[in-house]
Amino acid sequence: MPSFPAAVVSRLPTVGTTIFTTMSRLAQECGAINLSQGFPDFNAGDVLFERVAHWMRAGHNQYAPMAGVPALRGAIAAKVRALYGADYDPELEITVTAGATQALFTAVAALVHPGDEVIVFEPVYDSYVPAIELAGGVVRRARLAAPDYRPDWAAVRALVSPRTRMIMINTPHNPSGTVWLADDLRELAAITAGTGIIVVADEVYEHIVFDGLRHESVARYPDLAQRSVVVSSFGKTYHVTGWKVGYVLAPRELMAEFRKVHQFNVFTVNTPVQLALADYMADSSRYLELAAFYQAKRDTFRAGLARTGFELLPCTGTYFQTARYGAISDAPDTRFVDWLTREVGVAAIPLSAFFGDGHDEKVIRFCFAKRDETLAAAFERLERFC
Ligand code: PMP
Ligand code: GLN
Repeated sequence: MPSFPAAVVSRLPTVGTTIFTTMSRLAQECGAINLSQGFPDFNAGDVLFERVAHWMRAGHNQYAPMAGVPALRGAIAAKVRALYGADYDPELEITVTAGATQALFTAVAALVHPGDEVIVFEPVYDSYVPAIELAGGVVRRARLAAPDYRPDWAAVRALVSPRTRMIMINTPHNPSGTVWLADDLRELAAITAGTGIIVVADEVYEHIVFDGLRHESVARYPDLAQRSVVVSSFGKTYHVTGWKVGYVLAPRELMAEFRKVHQFNVFTVNTPVQLALADYMADSSRYLELAAFYQAKRDTFRAGLARTGFELLPCTGTYFQTARYGAISDAPDTRFVDWLTREVGVAAIPLSAFFGDGHDEKVIRFCFAKRDETLAAAFERLERFC
């Protein structure tokens, strides 16, 4: 096709294709075991598929209400009340979204004005910064440092200014696998008290927390909850990342602004899937047992990796394990994962992809949301070369 005659002025001049797409594609090309992009290689429960088919056949195939089907919003409200003791009105304070990515993007588009400052924590999930920049916001970065990637609250305080509009947090944290503690939430509450700062809390791994820790949702803390937009995703919880369904909780004033944008960039989400998820949520064991399920996989994965030259970093949540590879290679992390994928046959994500300046700590991220056979096959390859 002849190319567009005028020069295109990019709104995201430094952005290329996401590291997840890049590494998954390379893994496929090389026939590597894909422990890069975060998704399970096992299926969700059959009941969930039966419920989708049920609602499709029963004729629920037209637009759902803009904010989501009432049954699903009701089920979300009940879960959040039971787990975090917070009351969100399903009518005004809960919206079903096309996954967490859309929820985060919409929250930023709705609430950040040009010139507003937004604080993020690096390593930062890849969609946050482009969303802020498209809204005309100014990104301020707080560093989470290896090996435990805990926040440095004095440094965060130093970043806060009268122009700070938003702080975006993520716990349990992708890519580090760190879980914030009650003290972190108290610090966040203290820093934001008496300000107009909005917190966007990305809690997509809320049910994947290990070692008896509890998920510290901002919803547990009334002072924080009243200024927060909480984001979650059914993709992580029910092993259906490809369905792209998530939700947002926020007090009504914030939610009203969120919905003004949501109605024009998505309008509404897949009806039979929403109805099926509402049915599936009725059995709370399906999300309550997730932590033990993934903790066993984490333990298997760590035991396997311990037989290699990788140095394991702490992992108390998510389905990601980070590791230092300095004893195996002194290559930059992007080159190391390229070698690992092509020559060893195991794909992983370089942590530098989560830093604006490409900061390289020689740390990579593996996804262990895989069948035990997949993990065993990966160990066999890793043990041979690493
Ligand atoms: N936030 C984080 C921290 C994630 O890891 C992911 C996806 N893995 C998302 C948001 C996006 O979730 P979704 O697939 O529901 O858009
Ligand atoms: N969130 C997933 C990960 O961290 C990837 C999702 C995506 O490809 N955008 O691996």
